[in-house]
Amino acid sequence: MRIHHLDGGGTRPFGGRLVDGRPGLFRRGDTVNHCVLIELETRLVLIDTGYGEQALLRPNEWVGRQVVRRTNPVLDKPIVRQVETLGFSRADVRDIVVTHLDLDHAGGLVDFPHATVHVHQAELAAFTETYGWRERFRYRPVQLAHGPTWSVYAECDSSKDWFGFQSVEQVRGLSSELLIVPLAGHTRGHIGVAVRTARGWFLHAGDAYTHHGQMADPPRMPLLGRVFEQTMDTHRRQRAENQHRLRDLVREPDTPVNVFSAHCATEFARLCNAQSDGDA
Ligand SMILES: [Zn+2]
Repeated sequence: MRIHHLDGGGTRPFGGRLVDGRPGLFRRGDTVNHCVLIELETRLVLIDTGYGEQALLRPNEWVGRQVVRRTNPVLDKPIVRQVETLGFSRADVRDIVVTHLDLDHAGGLVDFPHATVHVHQAELAAFTETYGWRERFRYRPVQLAHGPTWSVYAECDSSKDWFGFQSVEQVRGLSSELLIVPLAGHTRGHIGVAVRTARGWFLHAGDAYTHHGQMADPPRMPLLGRVFEQTMDTHRRQRAENQHRLRDLVREPDTPVNVFSAHCATEFARLCNAQSDGDA
């Protein structure tokens, strides 16, 4: 198994652009869009897909005029092109696990037409059935209009505990250990994705939290991030409980799990540095 940490394009809320996406060049307030490409023996698996290639070609339609204006998204680094730069084709990606279907995570699904998309049932239901102002802002029907091949997960009796997290399930059809870890709150069916590597577990926590300081003791978070996070929460209490559990896990002495979130530039830089040191 080989792991690649990729930035599918974050936001630059205070304007400006990076020279490139190298770790260490991020400015205060900048975010990343942390996706993970996993090389298994016979296939590639992707965790989250970023805004996608279509966002580069037709941004207002693909991510929405308001999002473009308010968050200043970085749209010029679609994951599919990074996969191709690594020497693969888009057809090599056979499985995608999406932490949730927000426009900045699901926008690249259409770029991988041969992939089965693993998603929580509650998330798919939220996308297709319930529409309040939050759903209208965060979900873009155009991004799923191609009709992905879904593999849907509901919480059921056969699921198990994993380091105190409940209703955890193995991603279907893979021999390696990849787990769906329900972390609802940001959205109804938000999940984390746990992967067992030769060096131990990592957990991509998606948007269950957004800043590394939230895992610190005591937790801290920049005001702007806190406002945005709370505005977009679907279930604030569930989010708070899941953050609490994640903190407990991170603070365990010699914690057996490397936890990171989707948008924290500091965590992304740490993982990329460890990767270039051959440690991730
Ligand atoms: Zn997000």
